Amino acid sequence: MKMLLDGRWVDRDEKIDVLDPFDNSVIDTVPRGTKADVEIALVAAAKGFEVTKRMTVYDRAQILYKAAGIISDNLEDYATVIAREGSKTINEARKEASRCVNTLTCSAEEAKRILGETIPFDSFPGGEKRRGYYYRFPIGVVLAITPFNDPLNLVAHKLGPAIAAGNSVILKPATVTPLSAIKLVEALLEAGLPPMAIQIITGYGSEIGDPLVSDERVRMISFTGGVEAGKHIASIAGIKKIGMELGSDSPVIVWKDADLELAVESCVSGAFWAAGQNCIGVQRLLVHRDIYDEFKTKFVKRTKLYKIGDKLKEETDMGPMITETEAKRVEKWVKEAVEKGAAVLTGGKREGALFEPTVLEKVPSNVTIHYEEVFGPTVNLYPVDDLDEAIRQANSLPYGLLAAIFTSNIDVAFKAAYELDCGGVMINDSTDYRLDSMPFGGVKYSGLGREGLKFSLQEMTEPKVVCFHLPGI
Ligand code: NAD
Repeated sequence: MKMLLDGRWVDRDEKIDVLDPFDNSVIDTVPRGTKADVEIALVAAAKGFEVTKRMTVYDRAQILYKAAGIISDNLEDYATVIAREGSKTINEARKEASRCVNTLTCSAEEAKRILGETIPFDSFPGGEKRRGYYYRFPIGVVLAITPFNDPLNLVAHKLGPAIAAGNSVILKPATVTPLSAIKLVEALLEAGLPPMAIQIITGYGSEIGDPLVSDERVRMISFTGGVEAGKHIASIAGIKKIGMELGSDSPVIVWKDADLELAVESCVSGAFWAAGQNCIGVQRLLVHRDIYDEFKTKFVKRTKLYKIGDKLKEETDMGPMITETEAKRVEKWVKEAVEKGAAVLTGGKREGALFEPTVLEKVPSNVTIHYEEVFGPTVNLYPVDDLDEAIRQANSLPYGLLAAIFTSNIDVAFKAAYELDCGGVMINDSTDYRLDSMPFGGVKYSGLGREGLKFSLQEMTEPKVVCFHLPGI
């Protein structure tokens, strides 16, 4: 596939292979973008903004509705690309493609709700005979940088609201999963998006990231990815808006009065969805001591039923990690934990990029898999004796995206909802629940600002005040 620069699909001699992580077969190639390509993208995006800022809300919304329709009509094609270039099974990929349709549809709807207000200028002496209001205008060139784990829908979460707002976009998709992103842009162009409205630059973040991020023509960076890249981007961005959706180590409390069947089913899925490469994947299960053994037995039994292997087979529950290197990293972290006293209840073995769904207990607090985001198919169980302790443990790490609690006691649920330090609390669901239109984001190292269409639109527009001084009235 090619890059989209200055209104044309372009190729380059230097290419990057896009591999299927299951068998390392080459699916396709993309050009390895250079600093010269960054300059082309920046110039074209500035020109593109001159076009997009003049488009009517009706036209912007129609493009998004039509693109949603195109993806819906070709859902299986989109799902297959997601499943081949990434880690997801075909069933997981179908869900992502359907969510993308919803993300674009909600973006179209939100385009019609970019509102302002009248301002009571005469509410303070000196404001007499003034009438006015504020409206929201598009921020300009948005740089969208996306990760590998939801290669279609997390791109839609940036392109949908950026287009709805009237911005132009430079998209830098994840190096390892650029194909779904390019197919999304194909749908937008087929739906009528002017080609100058969007630039896609493929390549390595380490090579093209800095000149994009630091350039003053970019007015907002919308970044989803890891904390390390996030910190680097924030350090060189200069004066521009930054939205950041970063990692987490999601805690789930299972209280003594929980529906255990529900909790087990939900948390197993939440831990191993997309081979655990999920920013809201369950990493830490804080289980009340009274039910710890029962929960543990059921959880391990259910995990052992997971079928891992070929992503394109209908019966596969979990595919490989994104690369063998990543699977080796998780293997190393598990080994470190075991050497310092953790017990593997099931899993722990690796074959190529496939890493077994793994459950650990007795994980000490000084090992990496306890205090860092694992972003792999492992989950840690911890017994807890009281709610204050569970909440303290949940809040003890430097992340705070989503947290969750299973309980049938409304007081317990309320206390958890208010005291868990994060961007959202799920009650009787695992942390792996997101509606695409809800405000989504985190505190601490989990991010800056919120996504979710209405909320992204706020971030991607600026208020402008208009005040008429009318001495004659
Ligand atoms: P990553 O940080 O390695 O890469 C993300 C993107 O940033 C890629 O496109 C990459 O090429 C680019 N990049 C890397 N260095 C860059 C630089 N210096 N300048 C500009 N761009 C640069 O992340 P990943 O491995 O693709 O994704 C996994 C991470 O993403 C996890 O930490 C996960 O929690 C996080 N994530 C967060 C959310 C959320 O909504 N909070 C959602 C999905 C993933």
